[in-house]
Amino acid sequence: MIIKTRFAPSPTGNLHFGNIRTALYSWLYAKKNNGIFVLRIEDTDKKRSKSIFTKNIFHTLKWLKLNWNEGPFFQSKKIKYYQEIILYMLKKGFAYKCYCDNDTLLTMKKKKIFEKEKPRYDGRCRNLGNNFNSLNKYVIRFKNPINGTVSFNDIIRGKIQFNNSELDDLIIQRENGIPTYNFCVVIDDIDSKITHIIRGEDHINNTPRQINILKVLQAKIPSYAHLSMVMNSDKKNFSKRDNSTKILTYKKLGYLPEAILNYILRLGWSHGNKEIFSIPEMIQLFNLKSITKSSSIFDLNKLLWINKYYMNLSHKKYIKKMILYYFKKNNLNDTLGLDLDKLIKNFLPHSYTIQNLFDLISHFYIKDNKIIYPDDINNYLNFNTLNILEIVYNKILVLKDWNLNIILNIIKNISLSLSISLKDIIIPIRLALIGKIHSIGINQIIYFLGKEKSLFRIKNFIKYIKVSLS
Ligand code: GLU
Ligand code: ZN
Repeated sequence: MIIKTRFAPSPTGNLHFGNIRTALYSWLYAKKNNGIFVLRIEDTDKKRSKSIFTKNIFHTLKWLKLNWNEGPFFQSKKIKYYQEIILYMLKKGFAYKCYCDNDTLLTMKKKKIFEKEKPRYDGRCRNLGNNFNSLNKYVIRFKNPINGTVSFNDIIRGKIQFNNSELDDLIIQRENGIPTYNFCVVIDDIDSKITHIIRGEDHINNTPRQINILKVLQAKIPSYAHLSMVMNSDKKNFSKRDNSTKILTYKKLGYLPEAILNYILRLGWSHGNKEIFSIPEMIQLFNLKSITKSSSIFDLNKLLWINKYYMNLSHKKYIKKMILYYFKKNNLNDTLGLDLDKLIKNFLPHSYTIQNLFDLISHFYIKDNKIIYPDDINNYLNFNTLNILEIVYNKILVLKDWNLNIILNIIKNISLSLSISLKDIIIPIRLALIGKIHSIGINQIIYFLGKEKSLFRIKNFIKYIKVSLS
C-alpha cells in the first residue's frame, strides 16, 4: 500500500503555526513511508476564499520546502463532478432533497431546544421521494443511518465513537447547487486514495459524518490522526486573521525556514529530550503515535532560541546573501569600505534573527553625516558630554594598536580618571558613533567602524553639541 497524506487548507486566511504543523506532520509521514503528499485547496466557499490566501499557501509551503507530490487540486474546479455524484446518491437513495425553508428549520430547532434535545434536523423530508414535484428551493441531505454507531481508531486518541442518532442528516449540496465541505472532502480523499488523514481536532465531529458517506460509497476508510490545537501565548486559538502568527511574517522578520520547521515539529511531538532535528532526522524519527493529545502553546522565546541556533549553524555565505537582501531593501550601500564578512562573523553569535543581525550591522553602514539622534538628544548636549567626547577623540587619535581590549581599556581609564560611571561615559560615545543609547559593546562599535570613521563621527557630534550650547 502506498501511504498518501494530504494538506487541505481553505484559502480563507493566512497560514499560521497550527496549519503548518498539520502540513509538516502530513509531509513527514508521507516522506518517512516513501509515500505521496497531496496538496488540495478547499475553496468551495466562494465568499470567504480569496486568491491572495491561495498565494499565501503556495508561498509559505514553498518557502518551507514542504513540497507536494500531487496537486494542487482545487475543489472549485470540480463542482460539476461532485454534483454528478450527488445525483447518483439521490438515485440510490443515499441522499434526498430537503425543501424546508428557514422558518421551518428555526421552529424545528426551537422545539428541539425546548424538549432539551440536540437542535438537529428531524429528517421530515427523508421520505418525500425524488419525484416530489415542487418548484420550491431545496438542499440535498445525506441520509445518515438512524441507528447504530460509527467509530474510528484515532492514531493519537484511540477509539472515538458516536451514536448515529446524534448525527444530523448532513447537507451535502446547498440551495445554490454548491456541494458542501464534508462532501467534497470525502470525494477528494477517495479520488486521491488518501490513506492517512492528519488534521486538526476541530474536525473530530466531521469524521463520523464523513465515514458514513465513505461507507455508502463503499470506499476504504482511511486512518485518522486529529491534532490538538496550537494556542497563542494568551491561550487563545490561533486565528487565520492574526498577522503575528502568520508564518510569512516570520520570513520577513528574518527567521530561517529550517528553524521554523524544527520549532513547529516540537510543538506537539517529541523524541526524548531532543530539541534540534535536521530534516533527514525529522523524517527518520517522526511517528504519529508520539504526538501529544494536549494542546500546545506558542512560545516566541523558544522559537528565537532555535532560530539563533540555526543561524549560527548556517553557512556564512547563506547568511551574507540574506543580509545583502536587507541592505537592498533598506537602500543601504554595502560598499563603504567596511569588512562585511568580519562584521557578520562577529555579530552572528549575538543575533536571534537575520533582521536582528542586520540591525546590528547596519549601524556601521549609515553614512557618517546621516546619523539620526534620538528625540531626547537635548538631555545629552552639555559641557560634560563635550568634555568626555573631546578626551575620547584625542585618545583614539593617537591610538596605534587597533584592538578590542585596548579600546575598552581606554574607555575604562577615562571613566576612572573623570570619576564618571562607565555607563555615563559610553552613552555619549554611542550617540556620536551610531545615534543610539543602547546597542552592542562600545569597543566593538569603535573597532569595526575603524579609526577614521570613529573620529569623523565624534568630531561631527562635538560640533553639534557646540552649536547647541552657543
Ligand atoms: N479545509 C479544512 C480546513 O482548512 C481541512 C479539511 C481536512 O483536513 O479535512 O480546516
Ligand atoms: Zn426538510
